[in-house]
Amino acid sequence: MPLSLVGIDADDTLWHNEPVFRLTHQRFNDLLAEFADAEVIEAKLAEVERHNLATYGYGAKGFTLSMLETALTLSNSKIAATAIREILGFGREMMTHPVEPLEGVEDALKELAQAARLILITKGDLFHQESKLAASGLGSHFSGVEIVSEKTPETYARTFARHGGSVDHAVMAGNSVRSDILPMLEAGGWAALVPYPLVWAHEAAETPVNHPRFRTLGSLRELSGWLGDLS
Ligand SMILES: [Mg+2]
Repeated sequence: MPLSLVGIDADDTLWHNEPVFRLTHQRFNDLLAEFADAEVIEAKLAEVERHNLATYGYGAKGFTLSMLETALTLSNSKIAATAIREILGFGREMMTHPVEPLEGVEDALKELAQAARLILITKGDLFHQESKLAASGLGSHFSGVEIVSEKTPETYARTFARHGGSVDHAVMAGNSVRSDILPMLEAGGWAALVPYPLVWAHEAAETPVNHPRFRTLGSLRELSGWLGDLS
């Protein structure tokens, strides 16, 4: 069965993203060290972030607001205005951080684009994701770009239908079991996990075992081989 549509995740699938967040966490923990231990700060930030996702959605801007809220809470509103300014600076640096594509991604996309239509499917802030795609230089390989607020089975069914196919003839590739794999399989599609060494706690989930429409790959370069096996 030919799979003619390939959805590809962006953050930590096409380019490095989680290291930027990890670095910011470290700087944030250092900044708040006088108010709490790193574990307490991390736990509070995770709680605030989880709570805020429904309001701010995914991405660096929402994360910056969550850092500010966490700093105000943990310091009992005593945090200095200069520290607030530093946190705003952390957020700005995340927004303007250079985009570094993962090794081999460009070649993988070139090869894939010969066999299928590629759709970039990513969550997060529209402006920031568009900026990163432009900065990556990878945009020309994609027939479509979908920046969505959440990756659900309905998101995948709707997206692949809009691009002239159907989800059961499409494959989604990405680094997040929770966002790129499980909802795609639930929608009836095919899914390839391309693990990235760091996983955001919010994205952690059990990897499927022996699922007939799922494969774990060593890199995006292995995807065209799997598509060939399936055809
Ligand atoms: Mg990702």
